[in-house]
Amino acid sequence: MAKKFQNFINGKWVDAKSGKTFENRNPANWDEIVGTFPKSGKEDVDEAVKAARLAFEKWRLVPAPKRGDIMRKVGDLMVERKEELARQMTREMGKVLAETRGDVQEGIDTAYYASSEGRRLFGHTVPSELPNKFNMAMRVPIGVAGVVTPWNFPMAIPTWKIFPALLCGNTVVFKPASDTPATATSLVEILVDAGVPEGVINIVHGGGGEVGMGIVGHPDVDLVSFTGSTEVGKKISEVAASTLKRVSLELGGKNAQLVMADADLHLALDGVLWGAFGTTGQRCTATSRLLLHEKVFNEFMKMLVDRVAKLKLGDGLLEGVDVGPCVNQGQQDTVKSYVEIGLKEGARIAFGGAVPKDPALARGWFHEPTIFVDVQPHHRIAKEEIFGPVLSVIKIASLEEGIRVMNDTIYGLSSSVYTKNVNDAYTAIRDIQAGITYINAPTIGAEAHMPFGGVKQTGNGHREGGWTVYDFFSEWKTVYVDYSGGLQRAQIDNYDK
Ligand code: NAP
Ligand code: MG
Repeated sequence: MAKKFQNFINGKWVDAKSGKTFENRNPANWDEIVGTFPKSGKEDVDEAVKAARLAFEKWRLVPAPKRGDIMRKVGDLMVERKEELARQMTREMGKVLAETRGDVQEGIDTAYYASSEGRRLFGHTVPSELPNKFNMAMRVPIGVAGVVTPWNFPMAIPTWKIFPALLCGNTVVFKPASDTPATATSLVEILVDAGVPEGVINIVHGGGGEVGMGIVGHPDVDLVSFTGSTEVGKKISEVAASTLKRVSLELGGKNAQLVMADADLHLALDGVLWGAFGTTGQRCTATSRLLLHEKVFNEFMKMLVDRVAKLKLGDGLLEGVDVGPCVNQGQQDTVKSYVEIGLKEGARIAFGGAVPKDPALARGWFHEPTIFVDVQPHHRIAKEEIFGPVLSVIKIASLEEGIRVMNDTIYGLSSSVYTKNVNDAYTAIRDIQAGITYINAPTIGAEAHMPFGGVKQTGNGHREGGWTVYDFFSEWKTVYVDYSGGLQRAQIDNYDK
C-alpha cells in the first residue's frame, strides 16, 4: 500500500474536503508509487487561508529573535534528517543523491541565515529636517503569504520562501508542485516539530489550476511568492493584479556558458558538464547553450563528446550514477519534441538524441544527454527553455558576438564566461543581461546568502536569497516622533520662503 499523505491546515493533518487523491510516482521506476496525496480544491484553500489569517494576529507579535530561535531548530532538525530527506527527494523527482543532499543543505543554510536575521531585521534611523523630531523606518509583517513552488528544487526553493516569510512575521499557505509533495510534507513536519504554532504554516496539496490559482486569486492572501515557468508566472501576475497583491516571480531561463579561446579548457569542460547535465538539465540555471570560440571549437567539442559519453544514466539512489531521469513523462516528451525541432531546424546531433535502449532504464523517464552542433542563434533550441539534458552549441568569433548571442533571448537568469583575460571578464560582467554572472564557474552554483533572480522575462524584479528576500516579505513603515510640543510643518516651517 502506498503511503497516504495529507494536507496540514490549522495545526491538523486532514484530507481534501472532497476526499479525492492523486498519486506520485518515482520517475526512475514508474511502477513505484511514492504516495497518495489530497487533490484539494477551493474549499481547502479557503480553510487554510482562514487559519493563516487568524494565526497572523498572534504570530506578528512574537518577537523576531524568538521566531529566529524556531528557525534555528528547523535547521538543526534538517541536519538530523538530511540523509532521509535526500533519499526521499531522489525517489520522488529523480536527481542523484549528491544533488538532493545539496538541495537539503541549501535549506539548512537558509534556516540558519533566517535564524540570525531574527536578531537583525535592521531598519533605519534618519535625522529629521525639523528640531526635536525623530525619524525611523522599520520592517513590519505583511500578512498571509501564498507560496507556490516547482519540483526541481523541492526543498531549497520552498525554504527560500517560507523561512524568510515566517521570520518576518507572516503566516504561510504553501502549495508545492504535484511532482514533489512528499518532500514538501517533510518540510512542514520539520516546521511543526520545531515549534511553529498552529495556523502559521499550512500546506494544501493539489493541482496548479485549482490550488495554486485558488491561493493567488484569494482576496485574503496578501502576497504571493512563485517559482516556476514564465507561462504560469504571467497568468499569476494577471490574476494577482485584480487584488493588487505583492507578487515575486522567479521564472524560466536559457542560460549560456561562453568559452573564449584563452580559457582553461579543462575547467570549462567540467563546468559545462555540470551545468548542462546536472539535475538532468532541469534547473532554472541549467547551461542550455554553449557559446564556443571558433579557435577552440574542434578541440573542445572532441573533449566534450568524450566526457559526455562516460556519463552514467540511472536511478539517482545508486552509486556511480551521474544523470537521473526526467521528472515525468510530460518533461520527457518535451525533450523528445525539442530534439525533433532541432533536427528540423538544421542542427546536428553530436551526441545522444534519444531515449536510452538499456532495458534497466526501460521503466523510467530517461533521456540521453544530448548535444546539438551547427546551432544558429535564431533556432528555437537556441532561444527556448527546454528543461532537459540538451545542450545547444553555437560557434562564435569574438567576445562581442558571444555576449550579443548570449543576450538574444527573452530570459536573463544565469550566465557564465570562461576566460583568463581580466578585461574580457569585466566587459562581460558589465554587458551580459542576467541576474547572475559567473566567471570561470558554471551557470549553476548559487549560494543561499546571495541575491538570486533574473532580469527580463525571468522575473519581475524581486530577488530571493540573502538579505534581499527580506525586502519582499516585509513592509516598510515610516515613523515620525515629534517631541517639540508644537506643530512643525515639514518643508514649510524650516525654510524662510
Ligand atoms: P510550473 O509548471 O510553472 O509549475 C510551478 C508551480 O506552479 C507548481 O506548483 C504548479 O503546480 C503550479 N502551477 C501550475 N499551473 C498553475 C496555475 N495556472 N496557477 C497557479 N499555479 C500553477 O513549473 P515547473 O514545471 O514545476 O518548473 C519548471 C519551471 O520552473 C521552469 O520554467 C524553470 O525554469 C522554472 N524555475 C525557475 C526558477 C527560478 O528561480 N527562476 C527556479 C526553479 C525553476 P502543479 O505542479 O500542480 O502543476
Ligand atoms: Mg514523481
